[in-house]
Amino acid sequence: MGSSILTVDLGAVVANWQALDQMTECETAAVVKADGYGIGADRAARALARAGARTFFVAIAEEGAALREALGPGPVINLFSGHMPGDTDMISDMNLAPMINSIDQLIRHVEALPGHPFGVQLDTGMNRLGMEPAEWAAVRDVVLEQSPALIMSHLACADDPEHPMNLRQLDAFRDMTMGLDVPLSLANTGGVLLGAKYHFDMTRPGIGTYGGFPFQAAQPVVALSAPVIQCRTIEIGETVGYGNTFTADRETRIATISAGYADGLIRGMGPVTHLYFEDQPCPLAGRISMDLISVDITDLGRDPKHLDVLCEHQGVDDLAANAGTIGYEILTSLGTRYARRYIGA
Ligand SMILES: *Cc1c(COP(=O)(O)O)cnc(C)c1O
Repeated sequence: MGSSILTVDLGAVVANWQALDQMTECETAAVVKADGYGIGADRAARALARAGARTFFVAIAEEGAALREALGPGPVINLFSGHMPGDTDMISDMNLAPMINSIDQLIRHVEALPGHPFGVQLDTGMNRLGMEPAEWAAVRDVVLEQSPALIMSHLACADDPEHPMNLRQLDAFRDMTMGLDVPLSLANTGGVLLGAKYHFDMTRPGIGTYGGFPFQAAQPVVALSAPVIQCRTIEIGETVGYGNTFTADRETRIATISAGYADGLIRGMGPVTHLYFEDQPCPLAGRISMDLISVDITDLGRDPKHLDVLCEHQGVDDLAANAGTIGYEILTSLGTRYARRYIGA
């Protein structure tokens, strides 16, 4: 088979979510936006629903509709983007709950779908989504008459426990919600790890469920193994790949695998990344191409059938560090050409 194999461990997804759930006294929702951070929203969400997750979050209505098909009628599905023009039918037909971000969205929602469940997203300083304190003060009583199911906000710096922004946002959230008899939610994965005062009535972990930083106790969820298409021996002075950036300084055995930057293996990480044959790291030789990567396997002393990109020796956060990015981007870049194998559920 010419395609690389992405193995997704749904047992690890469930174990990570349960471990995050056990850190709190409140409900733990599941964030499955962006196709479940690249691993497959339907598979991840069904596994989490079986494990007891009752509330799911996605970014946009289209994701919510697809998730409703996968989960059936029971679970609550919330939309971070709120109620956008053109979304009304989908929100109604698929029973999705928009997190209302502005007065415009509030008017759109209560006029088009009076009595339909919704939540409110407040901005506590990130300045990305949600109502600002003054806006909220102006509509708060109107909103409360409509019985919102949830009031939420989002932390900008939760993966850094020492960051003063965390307490500033906590104070702002408390100020804006004081005395309200509505379920509250502030914490993403980082917020869960910040401790009980950030938990309120519901947490919304995403990345930790999928095995990424800052949940360092997480079990790895993805493994990626690429087939070797061809091996060759080159002489001293010969070069490999685009731009001739690798020159052999000894007789060198080169293996070429089927995966490249079009599959989410970010080109810039090439010079500091290794592929693994069992426990043995093999450096890349030359640049990562669109569909191919060449690897120096001289020291292996044999031609492997496969080389591992993501494995026990090199996880999502290692690749992220090599590429100068975050685990979230590595996961959500995972290619659609991989053959996907789901295990553990
Ligand atoms: C993505 C997202 C989350 C989940 O965040 P993680 O850092 O992945 O745990 C929670 N809330 C909102 C509003 C989000 O956009």
